Amino acid sequence: MDSVSFPYDAPVSQTLFDRASLVTPGGVNSPVRAFRAVGGTPRFMVSGTGPYLTDADGREYVDLVCSWGPMILGHAHPEVTAAVQEAVARGTSFGTPGEGEVALAEEIVARVAPVEQVRLVSSGTEATMSAIRLARGFTGRAKVIKFAGCYHGHVDALLAAAGSGVATFGLPDTPGVTGAQAGDTIVLPYNDADAVRAAFRAHPGEIACVITEASPGNMGVVPPLPGFNQSLKDVCAENGALYISDEVMTGFRTSKAGWFGVDGVVPDLMTFGKVMGGGFPAAAFGGRADVMGHLAPAGPVYQAGTLSGNPVATAAGLAQLRLLDDAAYDKVDAVSAAVQGLLTDALAKEGVAHRLQSASNMFSVFFTDGEVRDYEDAKRQEAFRFNAFFHSMLSQGVYLPPSAFESWFVSTAHDDAAVERIASALPAAARAAAEATA
Ligand code: PLP
Repeated sequence: MDSVSFPYDAPVSQTLFDRASLVTPGGVNSPVRAFRAVGGTPRFMVSGTGPYLTDADGREYVDLVCSWGPMILGHAHPEVTAAVQEAVARGTSFGTPGEGEVALAEEIVARVAPVEQVRLVSSGTEATMSAIRLARGFTGRAKVIKFAGCYHGHVDALLAAAGSGVATFGLPDTPGVTGAQAGDTIVLPYNDADAVRAAFRAHPGEIACVITEASPGNMGVVPPLPGFNQSLKDVCAENGALYISDEVMTGFRTSKAGWFGVDGVVPDLMTFGKVMGGGFPAAAFGGRADVMGHLAPAGPVYQAGTLSGNPVATAAGLAQLRLLDDAAYDKVDAVSAAVQGLLTDALAKEGVAHRLQSASNMFSVFFTDGEVRDYEDAKRQEAFRFNAFFHSMLSQGVYLPPSAFESWFVSTAHDDAAVERIASALPAAARAAAEATA
């Protein structure tokens, strides 16, 4: 990080960060936001409109994070905002069933064929935690297979060798997770179907489920090799285990039906979050009706939530999903392709070794020249180049994920003017990456 300079300061953000650091651990409510991997002052944002964010110092940025995925229509979309205002005016939480949650569940079931029934929760973490509990309750087995570099939220049993912030900070594991909580987790290299079969052979009748990101975005974008997801489905089916596809990031983003809409592999259970909440805390897990029927009150596996199916969150999610038609996905795909093209051209012009990887409209760049198929490959990148690149883009008004281990996201609101701003920032950022030293 020595070679990275911070081209301008952000005094108001710095003041807010100082205040925050006194009352909140590390000054943030989710670790990667603190900029520790890239250095410098995290920007405190005060507003967002379309593809732009404005920080507390009054600087505007083209946003390539989109709240880590949810804001696929851009910020403050008028129709989503109107739906939220209308819902808020009717009251914010009732603790009873309501029509909004039925409509959102119907929308999910209509879009994603393998989902026959769905239960709404408030975060992706809750969704994966509950899906794992259900899989264990349904099968009567304890062990869970997950993949290194995949992140499924901060569920105790799933934090081993996780992606996202755990990858960003190079943490092997986290204190506070006991051996008992992690002891039934088997961590395997991503994209290694043979390792999965070997684990099933080593633990006959013990494995409840395999959970995988449908297409991983939390070690950077590392799509499944052709046939990998199908092999997971097959080995689970042969061994009486459940195949859980975590679509918290890819769901309703990579296509109308998420990654399922791309590869067509039918999971037993799926998890959702991000886009389906329209910027509010709403998430879900769902799948086979015979499995979901084991959930309380229909069955014995307990799961609940005071704010589950919250009327404001469901109104936002429903409004956003209803706007996400084929034309919207065509637009997001086209913006993504344009930005990817500009990015790789700029880096190539400066002779920077890099590997651009995408999964539908999700993409990220690794500063390495080899293919990235798993977490070990991802860790081989020259992250110091990313840090220099990041700060150059930031200083020119483009907000990237503050980590080399995250997907970049675009929205339908990224118009020609926003793409043009990205294009004009890239040459200097590519030069900064080329000149960076470890
Ligand atoms: N699963 C995946 C694939 C994710 O990307 C995330 C968050 O980034 C989660 C689960 C956890 O979701 P949340 O942050 O809403 O708890």
